[in-house]
Formats: sequence, C-alpha cells, structure tokens
Amino acid sequence: VYNVPFPENEPVLAYGPGSAEKASLKKAIEEARAKQADIPMYIGSEEIRTGKKLPLNPPHDHQHVLGYFHEGDSSHVQQAIDAALGAKEAWAELSWEHRASIFLKAADLIAGPYRARINAATMLGQSKNAFQAEIDSACELIDFLRFNAHYMTEIYQDQPESSPGVWNRLEYRPLEGFVFAITPFNFTAIAGNLPASAALMGNTVVWKPAYTQIYSAQVIMEVFREAGLPDGVINLIYVDGPVAGDVVFNHPDFAGLHFTGSTGVFRHLWKTIGQNIDKYKTYPRIVGETGGKDFIVAHKSANAKEVATAIVRGSFEFQGQKCSAASRVYVPGNLWDDVKKYIQEDLKDIKMGGTEDFSNFVNAVIDEKAFDKIAGYIDYAKNNDMSEIIAGGGCDKSKGYFIEPTVVVTKDPQSKTICEEIFGPVVTVYVYQEERFEETLELVNSTSPYALTGSIISKDRYAIELASKKLVNAAGNFYINDKPTGAVVGQQPFGGGRASGTNDKAGSALNLLRWVSPRTVKETF
Ligand code: GLU
Repeated sequence: VYNVPFPENEPVLAYGPGSAEKASLKKAIEEARAKQADIPMYIGSEEIRTGKKLPLNPPHDHQHVLGYFHEGDSSHVQQAIDAALGAKEAWAELSWEHRASIFLKAADLIAGPYRARINAATMLGQSKNAFQAEIDSACELIDFLRFNAHYMTEIYQDQPESSPGVWNRLEYRPLEGFVFAITPFNFTAIAGNLPASAALMGNTVVWKPAYTQIYSAQVIMEVFREAGLPDGVINLIYVDGPVAGDVVFNHPDFAGLHFTGSTGVFRHLWKTIGQNIDKYKTYPRIVGETGGKDFIVAHKSANAKEVATAIVRGSFEFQGQKCSAASRVYVPGNLWDDVKKYIQEDLKDIKMGGTEDFSNFVNAVIDEKAFDKIAGYIDYAKNNDMSEIIAGGGCDKSKGYFIEPTVVVTKDPQSKTICEEIFGPVVTVYVYQEERFEETLELVNSTSPYALTGSIISKDRYAIELASKKLVNAAGNFYINDKPTGAVVGQQPFGGGRASGTNDKAGSALNLLRWVSPRTVKETF
C-alpha cells in the first residue's frame, strides 16, 4: 500500500518577545550579515565556482553585500542537462518510498535545524519580515514537501478496473527527458517546490532561480543534499534566462517546463517551445503560474471594517509582491466613507523599514527595476485627473527600495492602475453605485485578462451566489468573505486560468500528475 499519511500543516511560529525562535532567528540574521557568502552552482556532484561573481544585496539595504554567487554560461547549462540525464535512470528506478523519504527528511530539516537559517536568508535576500519568511520559507515549503509526498501516494493508488482473467494497471512513469524549473523571487517555497515536485515523481531537473532569490535557493539546495538527494537529480544553475533557454529549448530531451514568473516570459517560452516542437522526443509538459490582477468585490451588505481589513492585508502583506495580492477593489458607494476611514486608520500605524527590526510590517520591494516600475504607476496616479491617492504614495530608494502602501481611488474603471499588473504595494479602488452590483460583476470579469484570485465580501447569500456564478472563470482561487491571498497547501490548491497560467494547482495531486507519463499495462492470464 502507498501510505504516506495525510500530513498536518506546519504550525507558524509566533516569534514573540523572549521566544527561543526569535533568539535563534536574530542570531542567524547576525551571522548571515557578518559573513560574505560565496555561492556556487550545484551540478551533479560538483559545486561550481566560475569566478564570475555577482553581488547579492538586501533590497532594504542595497549597499550592503551579503555575498556573491558564481554566474554560469551556456556550457554550464549543457553540463546541468547532462548531469540530469545521467542521474535519470537510477532515480526513476528508486522506489517511491525512498524518493518520498528524501523530501520528507528535507521538510524535517527545514522545520528543525535549518529553520532559522532559511528564514534569515529569505528576510535578508528577499526583504520579508520575520512572519512573512516563516510563512513562506518555513511553513509553506515544509507543507509542499510533505503534502506532495502524500499526494504522490494517492496518485499511485489510482488504478483501473480489472476483469476475470485480466489485470490492468497504470504505471506512473516519470517524463522521458529532463524537467526545467524556472522559479521566481517572491516565494522561497515556490522556488523549492517547482524542482522538488517534479523530482519527487521520478524526474531529474535543471533548476534556474531568479537571481534575486539565489541567497535562499542555495539553502534549499543544501537541505536537499543533506536529506540525501542523489547527485544530478536537481541541478541548480545561475545563468541568464535567454542563455539558458537557448540550450534547454533546443535539446531533444527537454520534457517539461515548471515555471512561475511573468506572463510575458511565459508566453515567450511557450512560443519558443512550439517553434522547436519537431526537435523533441516527447511533447513537453508546460506548467506555468504567471501574473494576476486580483480583485476584491464588496457588496452593499458587507461590514465596512471587514472590507478594509481584506484590502489592507490582501494588498500590502508581502509588499504586494504576490501573484495573488489584491490590486483592484470594487466598493459600493454606501460603504466607501467607512472603508476609506478604516483603511487610513490601519495604514497610519504601519511601520516600514528593514527586516532586521521585527516591528516593521512593510519592507522593501525586490530591486530597482521593480521599484521604478511601481513608482511609475504611482506617478501616473498622482498626475491623472480621474485618480486620487488617499493613502501612501511615497517612494524612496536611497537606502532600500521602499514604497509606501498606496491606495489609489479612480473614477475610471478602465484606468491604467486598475487594469495593469503592478506587482507591488499599490491597490486601486473603484467606487460603484451600490444598486449596480450585477453590472459591477461584469466589469470585474471583463476588466483584466488575468484570472488568478479574487474575493467577494458580502452578508447577502444571493449576492454571494451571483458573484460566484458571474465570476466563475475570473479566478482560479475564489474567496468568500476573506482576502484573496494566503492559500494554504493541502487546503486551497493554488493556481489560475486565462493569462494567469495553466492552473495546475500547486500543492495538490493535480500538479504532480503533470510530472508523470503513465503507462497502461494489460496482462491477460
Ligand atoms: N500562494 C500564495 C497566496 O495564496 C501566492 C503565491 C504567488 O504569489 O505566486 O497568497
């Protein structure tokens, strides 16, 4: 029997004053800041130091150097593919229990001895506060590893009917070739999950993280190795995207892409794969989670305080750098004065600054490019007659890439800030006449090409049902009376449709099914 039991979600530690976890996290931060990391690529059994060193800086303190990583070129991509293909047969033949055990042990290492270090790396390298790091690089990553091991066993148990004299079975083979994982800066958990989920199902992987996440990616790799992951199963490379793509997408054994990142890049890769289709031995699996323009719709029956809380938490936690973050909000006229008052009250108390000070709620956005883009949208709102900024609006990149949580109110339901993905702490509110709820739902549905997450906040069941129906394809994760963020592995499988991705639900059996190519066997007695 396939029996990795259904796990419990890893509890979130509180980091309260005087707690042991807080002391060890502070120590890990100090140690990381004091040391200059020298971060190699990991290909096969080798740690590769090319000598082409690029600095890693905390986004909230960009003059500080945390260390350097060694950048590779196309020869390293080839080497990583060779290592993945070389490791493939033995890995695919290793029994499922042993593959599961490696990732279950990795989860335990993160839950225990590596917890402070991986959280410190996420706090310093990606500018997340202690809580955000704990939720991401500890709990969510641990959950992905444990729940995937369980879902793998659910998949293997799914077998066809047989009949007298005939035994039918499904063998869940890995893909024939290697998987390429491209991972984003915004979640350490996603960065770990994309290579690990494909590997768990028996695949070998070339993993290319965003340069801005390398500092924590390296800790993940160390954990996998300590947990006993054989050489070559996951190969971690730091190579410029187009350089890596040129080697990977021209390779006959390219068998799958596991991607989280921007819509533009995903579409470009999809086209490249399409153009090269005749070169491949199999049709590559393409799994991608990309952008979002996630909504909150409040109904006139909603409680104004609850609406304001959903907006503030949904839009500004994690600096709004979540694919799921609320970035367009539709509030009925009867509630707006109160909602606005509560938002302004909440934001008055919010502290912004570096992650080393645990009282800061808002930290920096990831890099200068992100800062300039987000600041550009804020400038646009400031200079647009139809828009008004009712909270925040300040941007300062002198020490770190800081952007105040910013609330724009627009009279134009097609305004630039309500339509385009900003990926930062900026939310745009459109106040609608409360009797026009149904038309507003149509507006929500048609305003954006994305369909990742969204919420309806209402006390009225008819309104909730109407929103559920009218917005059926507008969000892959739909929340009733909550913010549209914070999907928990094992509870809310995550992913969206339309321009937001292939909706292959991270953290569920649905995602793992993309990493197998089942063989049907009929045996006649
Ligand atoms: N899973 C996260 C959430 O539900 C978002 C992940 C992402 O930003 O891609 O908030």
